[in-house]
Amino acid sequence: MLVVMKANATEAEIENVVAVLRENRNKPERLPGHTRVAIGVMGNKEYVRQDDILRLPGVAEVIEVTKKYKRVSREFHPQDTLVKVGQAVFGAGQPVMIAGPCSVESEEQVLSTAHMLKSEGVHILRGGIFKPRTSPYFFQGIGYAGLKHLQKARAETGLPICVEIMATEDIDLYKDEVDMIQVGARNMQNFDLLKKLARIQTPVLLKRGHAAYLEEFLMAAEYLLDGGNHNVVLCERGIRTFETSSRNTLDLNSVALMRTLTHLPVIVDPSHAAGRHDMVPPLARAAIATGVHGLIVETHPNPSKALSDANQQLDFDQFRDLMRQIRHLAAALPDLYSPEAIAHA
Ligand code: PEP
Ligand code: MN
Repeated sequence: MLVVMKANATEAEIENVVAVLRENRNKPERLPGHTRVAIGVMGNKEYVRQDDILRLPGVAEVIEVTKKYKRVSREFHPQDTLVKVGQAVFGAGQPVMIAGPCSVESEEQVLSTAHMLKSEGVHILRGGIFKPRTSPYFFQGIGYAGLKHLQKARAETGLPICVEIMATEDIDLYKDEVDMIQVGARNMQNFDLLKKLARIQTPVLLKRGHAAYLEEFLMAAEYLLDGGNHNVVLCERGIRTFETSSRNTLDLNSVALMRTLTHLPVIVDPSHAAGRHDMVPPLARAAIATGVHGLIVETHPNPSKALSDANQQLDFDQFRDLMRQIRHLAAALPDLYSPEAIAHA
């Protein structure tokens, strides 16, 4: 339940509503808004009649929050949430670009990629150091040594770094060493990991599981918000459907739906959705046309030699061409992207 106070409600009126809700065994929580205060009531059981609350002085309306993911829902929080990573802000009018190799392989690979990305106006450098691979015999990542390469690239270019976390034991390290923590598709419902990431404030890039319903995805995000971390960016990266002709199926339906269901920023990963490099530009363009808040794209100096996801990584020329297309497309969509934000990208 959400109790929306009138814009001119006094502090005493707000406190009175909170007190009445508490008396009735609810757990009210103040949610300050731009123009007026709202009071959220968490939990599935509410012990108070809506009509009784509506009658209290200063109350404008009482809204039943029907969604299971309350804090993530737009009903609870109508304004868009902005998430800041370095200088980039997801949800602030320009598509935020995250790019880099699937896996960190060597210092040289990461540095050359980072410099190319920086000169192309990319905002965040990505790279996996522990890789979630389907087979234990596939390349597993170079581990902590990879973090040093990413940090060197950050020092040289100023690009913040986004790194996938696999183990809860790494949270203490990541929270200070990484600018954005990726929770991959395979860990979307690792509730222990989510609960622990909820206790820190480092922004989380939460990817949708390849077999997760949209509601399950949003409830996974609810774990993060409910535990206190509101810096969450959602990522659609393709789901499994009956269609097997490409790696996954990019679910743009859900991307469009999420704009109405949630206040959190939503980005798209065309690389894992497609599984092949030639499909990345068209899927990226389609995502931008829906108004996504950003993209995450894999790129490698020599994709055919990549130790993971070789088929889907763009080489540098292909990546530059994609950036040119994205810039033009975003500039042609002033209803979705603010021209001033793009000019300063
Ligand atoms: C990745 O980003 O390299 C990755 C493993 O992504 P996903 O979790 O979406 O498969
Ligand atoms: Mn990958």
